[in-house]
Amino acid sequence: ANAALQAAQAQSGLNAFLHVDPELTLAQARAADQMLANGQAHPLTGVPIAHKDVFVTQGWRTTAASKMLANYTSPFDATVVSKLALAGAVSVGKLNCDEFAMGSGNENSAFGPTRNPWDTQRVPGGSSGGSAAAVAAGIVPATTGTDTGGSVRQPAALCGVSGIKPTYGTVSRFGMIAFGSSLDQAGPVARHAKDLLELLDTMSGFDERDSTSLEFCDGVANAPGRMRNEFAQHAAQFDANGAKPLQGLRIGVPTEFFGDGLSADVAAAIEAALQHYEALGATRVNISLPRTKLSIPAYYVIAPAEASSNLSRYDGVRYGHRANQYGDLADMTSRSRAEGFGPEVIRRIMVGTYVLCHGYYDAYYLQAQRVRRMITNDFQQAFADQCDVIMGPVTPSVAKRIGDNRDDPTADWLADVYTLGVSLAGLPAMSIPCGFGGAEGKLPVGLQIIGNYFREGQILAIADRFQ
Ligand code: GLN
Repeated sequence: ANAALQAAQAQSGLNAFLHVDPELTLAQARAADQMLANGQAHPLTGVPIAHKDVFVTQGWRTTAASKMLANYTSPFDATVVSKLALAGAVSVGKLNCDEFAMGSGNENSAFGPTRNPWDTQRVPGGSSGGSAAAVAAGIVPATTGTDTGGSVRQPAALCGVSGIKPTYGTVSRFGMIAFGSSLDQAGPVARHAKDLLELLDTMSGFDERDSTSLEFCDGVANAPGRMRNEFAQHAAQFDANGAKPLQGLRIGVPTEFFGDGLSADVAAAIEAALQHYEALGATRVNISLPRTKLSIPAYYVIAPAEASSNLSRYDGVRYGHRANQYGDLADMTSRSRAEGFGPEVIRRIMVGTYVLCHGYYDAYYLQAQRVRRMITNDFQQAFADQCDVIMGPVTPSVAKRIGDNRDDPTADWLADVYTLGVSLAGLPAMSIPCGFGGAEGKLPVGLQIIGNYFREGQILAIADRFQ
């Protein structure tokens, strides 16, 4: 923990950490030592981790990378934070991200961008950019992130590490600063599938303080141990299969994930990964997810709509930034919000408010919900008839340069095309490193593995065979 703390403080110019507090970290490390001495060790006891700065933490500030919350400290810990602390994991700090988790490059942080350790001129991806960069740079072995439309999978892919977003409802959202509540899920970032399993299984479980938390997953109690058991069952089956461990596994490959827009280097790395899985005994099935492109407009209506509602709490009274100078009360709220929120957050609030307006609601919000249902049905049909898991790219290209697309804020939105559908459907999905691309072949590419509901253990076991 001491070494990780020093590395976090040094940062290596990455700007991955927003807050580091040696006293808090060393107190947690002492508690972990005590657990070890008492024979109460959990696999994560003493393991240095760090949290994305959207998980509220007692002690450390929580800013959501926003000026709005620049001086905010929560009186309690998020459920994810307390579960990992109870297991003895030692937090070395809070990680940079896009403001309120809105973005795909970590460029929307009020505290400056995080840099990609593979090439510091490039973005680490977003919004959990600090979470992926800190693991890729070897500062900590594991971090937490959140994924509303791809924010764990996409930065993991662009930084050459692994990340998983579980089924919606399996990890508590209590204490996770809300963006799009029907989409937000926490997920870990680490190097290997087995590390993700330890973290995710520990983080998961029913929580009565989150109204969308699930008590049961397919009849099994939503509690730590569920994913671990499923992983073990699959791993045992793979072992029993001998030379062709993945014999019988049907991998669905959606045609729509390989069309225009996918760069050749990424396509080649994905193809090689699929061939590797075939060599392990799996069969490849071509499938269709015909509404893939529609996931972009559907998501960028629904997520901003929910964001506009969630962010109405930042009114300059109850939380966060308050303008120094103002006229009446309404003026105070509007000045506080104009000063506290960055441009992307303001854009989302305006889009969200618009699509929820009386007169536009049916045309935009309701229509987007219908598309969401169709996208969900497409996945369900594929899993019912054709395949056990789905694989494809996470991103259309490798990490872009910091500052690219600055004049066109919606260009980044289009790059979310392979991750949004999963989020709209609430399915579990992960990213594992599968090769390199870019002009010199030195930038990481991620393979996306999508499972049916509650099949986190299965996709992690499949990922584990690749690594
Ligand atoms: N890039 C997407 C967005 O900007 C997803 C972000 C996320 O998953 N938090 O909304």
